This record gives sequence, C-alpha cells and structure tokens, in this order.
Amino acid sequence: MRDPSVGIIFEKAKAENRNFLFEHEAKTLCGIYGMPITKIEVAKTEDDAVAAAKRIGYPIVLKIVSPQVLHKSDAGGVVVGVNDEKGVREGYNKILANIKKNVPTADIEGILVQEMAPKGTEIIIGSTNDPTFGPTIMFGLGGIFVEILKDVSFRLAPLTKDDAMEMIDEIKAKKILEGARGMPKADKETIINTLLSTSKMLDECPEIKELDMNPIIVYEKGARVVDARVIL
Ligand code: ADP
Ligand code: MG
Repeated sequence: MRDPSVGIIFEKAKAENRNFLFEHEAKTLCGIYGMPITKIEVAKTEDDAVAAAKRIGYPIVLKIVSPQVLHKSDAGGVVVGVNDEKGVREGYNKILANIKKNVPTADIEGILVQEMAPKGTEIIIGSTNDPTFGPTIMFGLGGIFVEILKDVSFRLAPLTKDDAMEMIDEIKAKKILEGARGMPKADKETIINTLLSTSKMLDECPEIKELDMNPIIVYEKGARVVDARVIL
C-alpha cells in the first residue's frame, strides 16, 4: 500500500491540469521512497527566498518554478553557488529577468531554493513506460556519457538487487565509479538502493509516464538527487 502523501502530490497536479510534477514535487515523491534528495523550499517573494536560504544553509541553488519552463537552465532559470543574502537577492531577480526575456508567457509559481550538493560523480536514472511491458528503468553516468556516448543500461521494472547490480556493471564507463584515473569512488550500495527505490516508486505509481533524475550526484558515501522531472 502506498503512502497517502503520494496520492496528494498527483491529485494536486491533476487539479491544476498539469501533466508533469514540478521539481520540488518530484523530489518530495523520490524522498517518500527513501531516495536522498536535496533540502528544498519554494519561495514566493525575494524575502521568502532569503529566509529559506538561511534555514537551508549556504551554499544554495535557486531555480525557476513555472509550468512553462521544464528545462530550467536552457531558459536561464538556474543559479548555482549562492553564498550569501546579497547573492540570493541578485539570483532571484536575475532568474525572473531571464525568464521574462526568454519565456515571456511563463507563469511564475515561485523560486525553488535548495541545498547545493558538493561535486561528485554524476549519474542519471530515468524511466519510460511502455504500454505493453510497463516501466523500463535506465541507468547511466551524467554528462557526455549519456548525451553523446549513449552509454546506458536498461531493465524492465520491477528490479531485483541482482538486476540493479547488473545495470551498474553493464555500462562501458563503469570503471569511473570504481575510482579510475584519480576519480573519487562512487558509493555503489547507494546507487543500487536508489535503483531499487525507483523501481518501487514506479511499481506503486502508474501515474508516472516518464521519470528523469538528472543528475544524481554520488559520493564515496551517499548521494543527492539534484534534479528530478516526472511526466504524468
Ligand atoms: P535543468 O532543468 O536545466 O535540467 P537542473 O536542475 O538539472 O536544471 O540544473 C542544471 C544544473 O545545475 C545541473 O545539471 C547541476 O549541474 C546543477 N545543479 C542544479 N541543482 C543543483 C544542486 N542542488 N546542487 C548542485 N548542483 C546543482
Ligand atoms: Mg537536470
């Protein structure tokens, strides 16, 4: 039986006629399934954003929340590495100005304030939903590995622990996760658990047509889901 807070997230999107979840909603969902998400707060005003940043703790990242802007950085809707109140105020206004210029028709719901995750190894976990076979889960390393080299692995959900281990083992660049060429080692146990949580979430949430957690930053211990997109 799924947690009642899961249905509330989908119902809100439906009531607002949205076929997607905002990043903060998608992350909240991932968090319910035990995935390690960044701290998040939606701010409606500049002063709200300053207060949220103080609660979360610097450094922080600011992002646009708008139903018309799903690819946020393309529209100038992401400011990373904000270290103080002045930076929050500047970043807040910079995002609003960029969106006004790049997507003039955008409705602005607010600005998402979130914890800035330290650097680490970027991975991607995603899914598509095949009408016959159901959800397929994708795994790959972030950046050029997925976008240019298409170095990814796939499995139909639900995943067993062995499936999750094989998915990690199948990508060509897997040595990067093991600390090749002076790269930090990535916590495989956390990647396996995140794949298994993704599988459980997809199993319990037939509402999800597509999922894209891009990137998830993985450390020697633990990880952070830094961006999540869900299409309903
Ligand atoms: P987009 O909608 O453009 O995919 P993202 O939320 O993925 O927007 O942000 C763009 C990039 O900014 C990410 O790929 C990542 O490199 C960086 N980033 C975003 N959020 C964070 C965060 N909380 N901590 C660290 N880096 C972040
Ligand atoms: Mg992204």
